[in-house]
Amino acid sequence: MSRSIAIDGPAGAGKSTIAKKVSAKLGYIYLDTGAMYRAVALKAIQSGIDTKNQQGLAGIMDKLDIAISHDNNLQKIFLEGADVSEAIRTAEVSAGASNVAAFPEVRLKMVELQRKIAAGADVVMDGRDIGSYVLPDADLKIFLTASVEERARRRFDELLQKGQQVTFEAVRQEMVQRDKNDSSRALAPLVKVPDAIEIDSTALEIDEVVEKIIYFYQNYANIKFEDIS
Ligand code: C5P
Repeated sequence: MSRSIAIDGPAGAGKSTIAKKVSAKLGYIYLDTGAMYRAVALKAIQSGIDTKNQQGLAGIMDKLDIAISHDNNLQKIFLEGADVSEAIRTAEVSAGASNVAAFPEVRLKMVELQRKIAAGADVVMDGRDIGSYVLPDADLKIFLTASVEERARRRFDELLQKGQQVTFEAVRQEMVQRDKNDSSRALAPLVKVPDAIEIDSTALEIDEVVEKIIYFYQNYANIKFEDIS
């Protein structure tokens, strides 16, 4: 049976950076599930469908062609054959992803794909509902948090580096709104499940969080490793 680590938490807590490093150390695949919801949002935007329009979204899900590739621990995501790994990182797509992720028509399809990938490979999967819904039997569940200010600061720096024109306040507002959407939706909301270990990354370096996760994995998931680098 394949192994799995679930890393959930709000936007900007550092999940993807940390999940990438943990998966590289373990030689597991890293699956960024947020990228899938982002790709759905991008498709809606390209098709002129409002990301809050449930019927409109339901109408495109059947024909949606999303593919994921993993090369050297690097995930790429394709929409209808085109690599959209960068195009999904705009603020517009972030907000849209949070909207489309509220719809069962979207979630059920994405979850099916996520479970299929996890069944065929050892994975570190990050998202909002991995430990609670997608992989309830994950070998280790981490709930990664950080203060809203810190999360907004990280996202703001990231967007600036990419040359996007944003204000800190706009990024903070968007983050608060996404937290609210993600925690309040009916199906698979963002929650910390009782068997998840919470790590607050506000004052921690990335590598400190990575070490903690590896430590928890070795000690609490009852797994012995000889070859963790
Ligand atoms: O993690 P990321 O910020 O890329 O996710 C984008 C959006 O996708 C989140 O705000 C959330 O609404 C949604 N999402 C989700 N469930 C997941 C991963 C992401 O609802 N497992």
